[in-house]
Amino acid sequence: MPGTELFGTEERKEINDVLETGMLFRYNHDAQRNNHWKAKDFEAEVKKITGAKFAHAMSSGSTAVATALAASGIGTGDEVIVPPFTFMATIEAVLFIGALPVFAEIDETLCLSAEGIKKVLTPKTKGICLVHMCGGMADMDAIMKVVNEHQLILVEDAGQSFASSYKGTYTGLFGKAGSYSFDFFKIATAGEGGVLVTNDEITYKKADVYSDHGHDHQGNNRGMEQHPYLGFNYRISELHAAVGVAQTRKVPGIKEKNRKNKNLLVNELSKTPGISFARLADPEGDSATFLNIFLPDTEAAKRTVAEFNAIGLGGFNYWFTNMYHFINQWDHIKEMRTISKLPIEVLGAPQDYKNLHLPKSQEVVGRLISFGVRCTWTEQEMKDLATKISACVTKALKPVNA
Ligand SMILES: *Cc1c(COP(=O)(O)O)cnc(C)c1O
Repeated sequence: MPGTELFGTEERKEINDVLETGMLFRYNHDAQRNNHWKAKDFEAEVKKITGAKFAHAMSSGSTAVATALAASGIGTGDEVIVPPFTFMATIEAVLFIGALPVFAEIDETLCLSAEGIKKVLTPKTKGICLVHMCGGMADMDAIMKVVNEHQLILVEDAGQSFASSYKGTYTGLFGKAGSYSFDFFKIATAGEGGVLVTNDEITYKKADVYSDHGHDHQGNNRGMEQHPYLGFNYRISELHAAVGVAQTRKVPGIKEKNRKNKNLLVNELSKTPGISFARLADPEGDSATFLNIFLPDTEAAKRTVAEFNAIGLGGFNYWFTNMYHFINQWDHIKEMRTISKLPIEVLGAPQDYKNLHLPKSQEVVGRLISFGVRCTWTEQEMKDLATKISACVTKALKPVNA
């Protein structure tokens, strides 16, 4: 959680600006707000880092990805290709806008692969909700080829990959719209928050309207604004946006330190037989929030996790058994346990979610262990960590009875 590691005076200053005027709402009240526009400033900071033409701050990464899908024209009954390895929110967003998730294979990039996407394409496929996982990025040249060839709508859930890029283009900006999360666990946090980005003005305007009950945000009489489309309330408050501003300004520094720290660990751990690393489609674009190590197979990874637990080593994720990040534990989707009927329950699921065959994803996630990289680590802390990881892996890989 690098953002939270650096919470300090800058964040407090931005919050105090808002507290001094009491103007907690992001729109209107021009006279009373003493020129403080934190949501707008937050958007400007995100644009500065990513080069996005448009950015729209919202209540969460989840609402940002749902809005990105809707503003891109994906809705009820549309088939959308998704990965089985992502934070749950991606799938929820697809379901809650009425669309139908179609699961495809990921590869060693930890993201959907072009090959995996091609295997599940049907004439009914409308789009892809691509997720850039663990601070890295998908293999965009290959994926864009499929997107263009089949004229698919690409939406990117870059919830975990703010500030990561592929060959100079920031994640979130390859498709029609993209989203970043600024929840408590990301490279920068707003407490709760998300930002939608796009280079397309019409998509941006739709997102702006949709996320605030249809308001077109023209003029200074909120009650008399036009409402070109139906919408809902996915607004961010000025208090959250204020934290987002200060945190986003720290991201270039965080990224630099993350990359340095991750590099040191990769160099140390490369010496240990049995350890390899997730593939970065563009190593230069890594935001380095996670050190993603591969063990030779799932059993070896499970034994390694047991060794970590035995010595009380924390700070890692074994996604394969995580309830919120991998399909094996998503029994609520498989059994469609909903509190009220979703469109998919009326329309029918495009795949048999209980019997999906995704051997590549099972293999990749099974042997993956991810450590959150901290930007405040000392060199000694990293050396100690590498020594512990290495010892645990070596012990886990030792042949039984040898
Ligand atoms: C964190 C995350 C989200 C959701 O973000 P929230 O701000 O927590 O709603 C969506 N997608 C991915 C891939 C994430 O990691």
